[in-house]
Amino acid sequence: MKQYASVTVELPARKVNRPFDYKIPVRYLGKIKVGSHVLIPFGPRKIEGFVVGLKDTPEIAQTKEIYRLLHDYPLFDETMLELMQWISSYYQAVLINVIKTVIPTGIVGNRVQVKTQQFVSLLASEEECQSWLTEYGKRAPKQAEILSFLLKNPTKSFLTAELVRKFTTGYSTLKGLADKRLILNQEIALQRDPYDASNYVSSQPLKPNYHQFQAITQICEAMDKDEVCTILLKGVTGSGKTEVYLQVIQEALSRGKDAIVLVPEIALTPQTVERFKSRFGNSVAVWHSQLSLGERFDEWQKIYQGDVKIVVGARSAVFAPFQNLGLIIIDEEHETSYKQTDQVKYHARDVAIKRAELQNAVTLLGSATPAVESSYHALIGDYKLITLPERVNLSPLPPVQIIDMRKELKQGNRTIFSNQLDQAIKERLREKKQVILFLNRRGYSNFVLCRECGYVIRCQQCDVSLTYHADTNLLQCHYCDYTEKPPQNCPNCGSNLIKHFGIGTQQVEEYTRERYPEARIARMDVDTTRRKGAHDRILKAFREKKVDILIGTQMISKGHDFPNVTLVGVIIADTALHFPDFRSGERTFQLLTQVAGRTGRGSEQGEVIVQTYSPDHYSIKAAKTHDYELFFHEEIGYRKEIKQPPFSQLINIILQDESESAVIEEAHRLANYFAMKIEECPIELLGPAPAPLSRVRGRFRWQIILKSRGLTNNIYSENDADNGDVLRMICQDVMKKFYDGQKSSVTVTVDVDPIGML
Ligand code: ADP
Ligand code: ZN
Ligand code: ZN
Repeated sequence: MKQYASVTVELPARKVNRPFDYKIPVRYLGKIKVGSHVLIPFGPRKIEGFVVGLKDTPEIAQTKEIYRLLHDYPLFDETMLELMQWISSYYQAVLINVIKTVIPTGIVGNRVQVKTQQFVSLLASEEECQSWLTEYGKRAPKQAEILSFLLKNPTKSFLTAELVRKFTTGYSTLKGLADKRLILNQEIALQRDPYDASNYVSSQPLKPNYHQFQAITQICEAMDKDEVCTILLKGVTGSGKTEVYLQVIQEALSRGKDAIVLVPEIALTPQTVERFKSRFGNSVAVWHSQLSLGERFDEWQKIYQGDVKIVVGARSAVFAPFQNLGLIIIDEEHETSYKQTDQVKYHARDVAIKRAELQNAVTLLGSATPAVESSYHALIGDYKLITLPERVNLSPLPPVQIIDMRKELKQGNRTIFSNQLDQAIKERLREKKQVILFLNRRGYSNFVLCRECGYVIRCQQCDVSLTYHADTNLLQCHYCDYTEKPPQNCPNCGSNLIKHFGIGTQQVEEYTRERYPEARIARMDVDTTRRKGAHDRILKAFREKKVDILIGTQMISKGHDFPNVTLVGVIIADTALHFPDFRSGERTFQLLTQVAGRTGRGSEQGEVIVQTYSPDHYSIKAAKTHDYELFFHEEIGYRKEIKQPPFSQLINIILQDESESAVIEEAHRLANYFAMKIEECPIELLGPAPAPLSRVRGRFRWQIILKSRGLTNNIYSENDADNGDVLRMICQDVMKKFYDGQKSSVTVTVDVDPIGML
């Protein structure tokens, strides 16, 4: 039996990525395994760590002993360790941080162990309590305080932990009262399953249509081959993708395999959950960021112990601890929310593909508008492409009209409603149909601009333009929450022609109310859905036809089914189009396609009206005809020309600090290291330069972008993957050198495959 364990630990002050060797105490021999969560002595302290290897001989002669085993069972197995090591190396993250990303809090923090909680309530009669208070109250003031509180709420139970916090005291205070039989200390088991199957009506598989049948057959073939395979399932909304998912999950289960289904967080609605729960009942666990620690722990346990076979969840469900994984489904695979943007900056799609490789599973990527990268992989044969070319009910996709707003202006229409949109809305209101008005922007307007001199009001702290909010009549910074009153005159030139520019959802709401006073109107964006449950309330009202016109941002563009909506108006398509990012064309096409998918879902034909100042852009033209191929053809050519992904790989490095000179100095030191290292490599170095967001919360930000360059000019045989490997290796070496020589407090974050450049 191996007597030593390599343990990886968290050393916040240093970016140490190597494990340390410890001796396994005799009592733990055979019990401590790879994945064990342990407490170890480290210098004068005891700290937590994870076992990442066992060995016969330690690297150093003098090893200390592991102090304690924190969980009876290992929290990950060899395969998960391999996946985490891959993530650590690919995304340039310290292993311990990857482990903390993969193993949910509540398990690692050791905070939740059992499904019970301690509650306290009054036990003695009021007289008994009062007499104790008069006699002993002064001597035990904390106990008296709590007892008085409970006396005021004689029938209620309180969470022990909450009382302790509320009265800033210890558990002994409560124990004292309980020992005197004045209060009752109870352990109450919690029912934490909000998705119990009894809440769902069971559903039966539908008879697949021809295309679904083909898809299911091919996916099953891939599963049976026991070969690693990534499949791109391309099909418009309503083409029956979800039904395909359900049936291939069934196939996986009948082969004794488990399945993971990832959906974008925003699409993890009760309806989505219902489709899986009603087919598979309590074999399904649901995983999302809003689960409480307790719920999270329960679900994780169920998966770990094999009580469930399917997990439906957002991004981090890709780490569900299945040992017998057969299938990973990623719905709406193009969604940017699959990329984690803080901590370990992994992309769930790419992690899924890697995991499937390690566990010999099939990855199924589904989308109506696949990411350019995914389509490219399908094109060059890395992925297998399966298409569902038509809607199940054969209803055509809604016609999309493009309105040139420049012409409207020339014709003297200065409102936000083109003539066509105005007519169409009025018609729907007459017919008692519902309308969605979409705007890809938050707040009242993006910024305040002086029309005389061009001055834009910015946040002093963050250097981004402030957003005007009409309800409070304030300018607000969306990074640090700073607010100020809008100025009467331009601070730069004194002109009074300083106004908010462009429009936001709030303003659209205002104009809509003015123009259609008889309509019932609701708005859905981050501002109106801040409070818990607000999101569901608005959608419920809309579904129940208590609202005629729903105005909203991205939030309403996906996941919801509104059969009575026959008109979708896009107020202005340009906001996404001119965003400073090479993916803006892709985002615009995806957004318009998704928004268009919101209409005509019932038996009636729907209509989409898109207003724009750039009617000739290919993203908008392609959206008009729902033509993904046209879009992809143009876009892939453009990407190749500008040498952006998939023709290169990017790494974005951001340096931040309160001291601007420190950031600049360190950015140059780092850039110099890179410059020296990449001389003969096909790698481009951009920067160092101030980041587009050059200041956030008082911290200065500089950035360095590394870009691997393509080797050949042949679009179909370019081997960008190999270039990426070199790029990441160099990055790792250089970062190590940088950290080794670092004396400043500058923080550096490395983002491999960034999805946004801001
Ligand atoms: P997608 O996920 O591509 O948007 P869905 O799987 O949700 O498509 O299917 C759209 C609608 O068609 C759903 O109401 C679904 O129940 C129905 N549907 C899907 N497949 C079939 C089928 N084979 N026969 C009858 N109805 C189907
Ligand atoms: Zn001015
Ligand atoms: Zn700010």
